[in-house]
Amino acid sequence: MINVSKIKKGIVLDHISSGAGFEIYKALNLNEIEDTVVLMQNISSSSMGKKDLIKIETDFQIDFTVLGLIAPNITVNYIEDGKRIKKFKNELPDLVDGILHCHNPRCISNTERHLAGHKFYLYNKERKEYRCEYCDTVCTYGLK
Ligand SMILES: [Zn+2]
Repeated sequence: MINVSKIKKGIVLDHISSGAGFEIYKALNLNEIEDTVVLMQNISSSSMGKKDLIKIETDFQIDFTVLGLIAPNITVNYIEDGKRIKKFKNELPDLVDGILHCHNPRCISNTERHLAGHKFYLYNKERKEYRCEYCDTVCTYGLK
């Protein structure tokens, strides 16, 4: 059992699939936070076998679009005064603005660099595929 109440104020990202914790850590730039950040890997979990968990002990604006792309289905807990005040399951975003790059080299988004804002719409939820707003090419956010 992980005692989330040990942290006074902050965010706990729970039910991260084992090994994805570090990807999230890097993608959210958690290394830039000056307060305590704890990444726990391979914790035994009754529902998942093994899981990762991240505790962020500060007010931090999580980029839920990035988080949703890397790890849909994780649990996000907000802690205030040592108590959980909010809990929700993260989801794959319906719309992604920026972040993704179109895989089509002839796409206007790749040839016209001055284009501001480039949107992708969720195309296939199972496969985490997004459709480019300009050329309809289906793109995915690749985990390295
Ligand atoms: Zn495109």
